[in-house]
Amino acid sequence: MTDDIQRPDLSPSTFAMPDGRSLHLYGNFSNAPVWPPGEGHVRGYSHRRWHPVRREWVVYSAHRQGRTFKPTTDCPLCPNSPDGEIPVDDFEIAVFDNRFSSFQKDCPRPAPIPGLDLPVDSAAGNCEVIVYSADHMATIGSLSQGRRELLVRVWGERVRALMALDEVAAVMPFENRGEEAGVTLHHPHGQIYAFSYMPPVIETMAQSFRDGYAIQPLTKLDAYRTADAETACALVPPFARFPFESWIVPKTFRASPADLTDAEVRDVAKLLSVVSRKYDAHFGRICAYVMIVYLAPKGMEDFFPFHIEYCPLLRASNKLKYLAGCELGSGSFLADLVPENTAKILQNIKMEEVS
Ligand SMILES: [Zn+2]
Repeated sequence: MTDDIQRPDLSPSTFAMPDGRSLHLYGNFSNAPVWPPGEGHVRGYSHRRWHPVRREWVVYSAHRQGRTFKPTTDCPLCPNSPDGEIPVDDFEIAVFDNRFSSFQKDCPRPAPIPGLDLPVDSAAGNCEVIVYSADHMATIGSLSQGRRELLVRVWGERVRALMALDEVAAVMPFENRGEEAGVTLHHPHGQIYAFSYMPPVIETMAQSFRDGYAIQPLTKLDAYRTADAETACALVPPFARFPFESWIVPKTFRASPADLTDAEVRDVAKLLSVVSRKYDAHFGRICAYVMIVYLAPKGMEDFFPFHIEYCPLLRASNKLKYLAGCELGSGSFLADLVPENTAKILQNIKMEEVS
């Protein structure tokens, strides 16, 4: 299947799954999905409670903990896998509602907790899984440039679709990569969370950007730039919290991946490959990381910049960066490497141009 064609029309083909969830197929796919007969999976609802000391919401999803685990060696993200999520012969990018979603579009309001004056609310929103390829062994670094460009465009399209829902306040695509990040499915995929409230980290970032902090000047700092393209670059932020933290930042302010020009889509897609391959080259193994796509929450499109942050969980090939007492207890990060030195290490790993 060819996958390097620019597709201006990104309308997905959307199919209703037997349990009411949606499957969206982007790009080319071989055939309409066919699910085995049955009622599908029973869905549960989450709720959130206010943490009055930390002043943040905690989301409770009892249906996730109690889910039946069907032992199987089949990958549910491979095409036509038994009990899989994508029953087609081949596809390019697939997006579907997470079977055990922490947030739900039709989430009911919970009852108050008897005897407690504790705010509770519905966990309205959505959780989607985004599968980058039908190839179980692919990685974001090994995908073709055309497929990565399609991925960046699909992020934009999902953001647009989810932000159009009245209850959605903020959308955050992300990828957990590697076993140390808790990933048991190696099939290349990420997730897209849609929140009905402002999560605390995004709220703090919004305050900084509202107050005038801008990230675009970081792209001009030669000492911190680790990979450059015409319209975007990868860099180590001078205030990195994680050893080997990297950001991908467009050189011009954009609020969302949906707002990128064709050239910016091309460059962000290239840098996605370069950053992850540099990590793997440096550590000599698949580097576990959490990659977060930050974008403007609803109503903040004038000042909140789209950018991508990588939090690698390794500090050496056999050493994990643990969030321990100081980080979890106080919120203060302790780093062993100063960002200037991290940047030098990553600058010295040369990657061939991705075609
Ligand atoms: Zn698979």
